[in-house]
Amino acid sequence: MIHPENSDEYKGLTVNSGVENTTIINPYLQRGRFARHRLSVNDYVEGIVRGNVTVLGQAVTLVESTNPAHQVVAQEVIEKCLPYSGNSIRVGISGVPGAGKSTSIDEIGIHVLSEHGGKLAVLAIDPSSERSKGSILGDKTRMEKLSVHPDSFIRPSPSAGSLGGVARKTRETIILCEAAGFDKIFVETVGVGQSETACHSMVDFFLLIQLAGTGDELQGIKRGIMEMADGIVINKCDGSNVDACHRAATEFRNALHLFPAPDSGWTPQVLCYSGFYGFGIKEVWDMVYAYIDFVKQNGYFDYRRAEQAKYWMYESINEQLRSSFYNNPTIADLLPGAESQVLGGQQTSFIAAKRLLDTYFQGLKG
Ligand code: GDP
Repeated sequence: MIHPENSDEYKGLTVNSGVENTTIINPYLQRGRFARHRLSVNDYVEGIVRGNVTVLGQAVTLVESTNPAHQVVAQEVIEKCLPYSGNSIRVGISGVPGAGKSTSIDEIGIHVLSEHGGKLAVLAIDPSSERSKGSILGDKTRMEKLSVHPDSFIRPSPSAGSLGGVARKTRETIILCEAAGFDKIFVETVGVGQSETACHSMVDFFLLIQLAGTGDELQGIKRGIMEMADGIVINKCDGSNVDACHRAATEFRNALHLFPAPDSGWTPQVLCYSGFYGFGIKEVWDMVYAYIDFVKQNGYFDYRRAEQAKYWMYESINEQLRSSFYNNPTIADLLPGAESQVLGGQQTSFIAAKRLLDTYFQGLKG
């Protein structure tokens, strides 16, 4: 029997390999006759800073690529875009499938663009997505109005890799979008807990979409996720569901009182709205602005962004150490044997890990 930790059923944070380069249907393109002109780092940066969305899209593809040569260019582009980034409001939006995330993002997005102007990018973190099969999150077809709006940029979740890898790519895409003049960034995610933590680690405001009328409102909501939320909104407050939504809101407010006060000093608000009919959308966005004003005044806004930058530095170190270890050919050869020895009880996990790590470090010295 497979132990739960190694069972596919619980493999929430690793994903299939995904497709990095889709097959080229037109063979002429492959021969290079009509091949797209390869851009230099400066071309990318210039295009992005000018707000050219085609170049932005190409740069994001580069960020998402696992091809080492693409990664080198991508990292240079990101570094050069950094001075132009940071000037935006980043909002994380989470909820179970069916909570109404895409309907709400479409409505809120259109409201924000028409009332406040600017440009909106919608990105996603979905560790279970595989590009070739289509991502559930950040899919243009799910946001009908925004997808045809000239001031919006919608990008599905990067595919392939660990949650950390997927999230890092989304975070780097935020930098590129900001450099391209997108001053509002939505990051959509779906809850298995850890993808929300990753989303929370790159946004200024974390919005949790909930539903009423599903029995005990607070059941199944991980305490940690509620604690992360800067705002909880109960969607589908329309028709016969209105009373249930207001009851759910009261329950959430009561529950929030039991949590310790957040570091931001802001008391998370609970609102009811209907993404489908557009009721209460203004209030939801006003809440986000009220929060941003509040934390900009008390200094928490900059503090949170600085803490996030620190977190991502350590995440990058961890990710690079892991990938250097697992991609080491000697280690890759030794791993299956070590694994079967551990499974057969001939070696303890600790000793097996130590021997592999020793071999790895010896190799680095030699
Ligand atoms: P997502 O999976 O979280 O992105 O959810 P969707 O936005 O795809 O919505 C799931 C379903 O709920 C769709 O059938 C929507 O039409 C419906 N829905 C979304 N928002 C509302 C709402 O405010 N009221 C009602 N009655 N239905 C809604």
